[in-house]
Amino acid sequence: MKLIIASNNAHKLEEIRAILGDHFGEILSMREAGIEHETVEDGETFLQNAEKKAREIAELSGCCALADDSGLCVDALDGAPGVFSARFAGVHGDDEANNALLLKKLEHAEDRSAHFTCAMALVWPDGRELTAEGYIYGVIAEEKAGTNGFGYDPLFYLPERGCTTAQLAPEEKNAISHRGNALRELVRKLEADPAQTEKPRNA
Ligand code: IMP
Repeated sequence: MKLIIASNNAHKLEEIRAILGDHFGEILSMREAGIEHETVEDGETFLQNAEKKAREIAELSGCCALADDSGLCVDALDGAPGVFSARFAGVHGDDEANNALLLKKLEHAEDRSAHFTCAMALVWPDGRELTAEGYIYGVIAEEKAGTNGFGYDPLFYLPERGCTTAQLAPEEKNAISHRGNALRELVRKLEADPAQTEKPRNA
């Protein structure tokens, strides 16, 4: 069965191929599948956004589709920026501004604990779905460190590692990341008993 990933991000594709490769005959990005489509991410939760993206691509392509949505949740900010992580400071994907705003908002915070969440949705063309979530827990550092990764990685500090996720090599991050954990949970569900975990749309 062919799987289309609702993304053109090379890093995500590589990670997904490595973990899901054995379960699908062919794994393609939207570009490789010749699909051009922008989903309006207006869900209130990561899961709603991931399901919406995967459903639209499954419908458009007639193939199985996998989509993810992820972001940073900061305890002292009641879970913000959450689903607005990419555009926390106003402009979509402006990592510099997003990190600067995060530091400003936490200037006087005693509790700097936070986690990344990733929701994954796998949708079959007949409407069956399988979903999973993954997390990674840490604290927001007072200054940036590291140049790997993207987004909030330079500020996301892992006390047990003594570094930020931007100071980890990509494979070290994948082994413990919210995205890696969501993918591994999805595979566990796929392998457990698909008949039990797959649910028809709107069920
Ligand atoms: P997306 O779901 O991959 O589009 O991520 C949405 C936003 O959440 C990104 O633009 C980043 O700001 C933030 N984010 C998600 N995952 C990570 C991560 O692994 N490291 C740093 N920032 C992340």
